[in-house]
Amino acid sequence: MFKEVENRANLLGEGLSRRGIVVVLFDLDDTLLDTNKVFRDQRDKFVDALDRKFSNLTKEDIGRSLTNANNAAYYTHSVSPTRWDEVAKSMSEELALPFEGISAELPILRQIYKTAPELHEGALETLQVFLATGVQMGLVTHASQEWTQIKLEAHNLFPFFDEIVVVDENIFKGPEHWLEAINRFNVLPEQVMSMGDNLGGDIRATAELGVKHRIYLPGKWSIYSDGEIPEGTIVVEEGIKKVVDSLL
Ligand SMILES: [Mg+2]
Repeated sequence: MFKEVENRANLLGEGLSRRGIVVVLFDLDDTLLDTNKVFRDQRDKFVDALDRKFSNLTKEDIGRSLTNANNAAYYTHSVSPTRWDEVAKSMSEELALPFEGISAELPILRQIYKTAPELHEGALETLQVFLATGVQMGLVTHASQEWTQIKLEAHNLFPFFDEIVVVDENIFKGPEHWLEAINRFNVLPEQVMSMGDNLGGDIRATAELGVKHRIYLPGKWSIYSDGEIPEGTIVVEEGIKKVVDSLL
């Protein structure tokens, strides 16, 4: 196993040097972690609870209303948990249900922010190979400080990162947050590689800064796959487990 990491690291190290990359910046949610699954699981429990409570509606109706309200809330509340009050309000209006009956079940959705998502297949091995190349590594993540702590501690990920930028959950992740990480390493954007599942907040944001090496890992969030993929972006459909291969 160790020998394999070493061999892969030698090859990856050559791939990074060839491209002039000295810093690799990772997104966390749905890049390294399967955060979408935590949302799906809690969403299903929330829909079940409302379905039991309001027998005149189908699960499909409740689910559709929740998805619409949640997507709309992203544009007003970004990734903040305060979104759920707005979501309950919209669902109450759309489904003609009492707000209190819906909001009483919101703790199910708030549980999301206390849960550590599982690592994506191959995520740990990928981080180990990158680390073994000697490249500097940073994390630019978008969530509360508390939830970030839970996620990184659960999988012992702190030792991988030289710098961690936590973007306020109430605002949108953009170029300025990636630039903060780049500045902390005191390197130029062209010496950096960025990686993430959010086309706007990760990929276009870094392209705008002049980060030429970008890896896009398309995920399950429709709101994150909107718009153009900047030219030159490496798209890895299989996710984090194939990132090293895409750079050899
Ligand atoms: Mg992400």
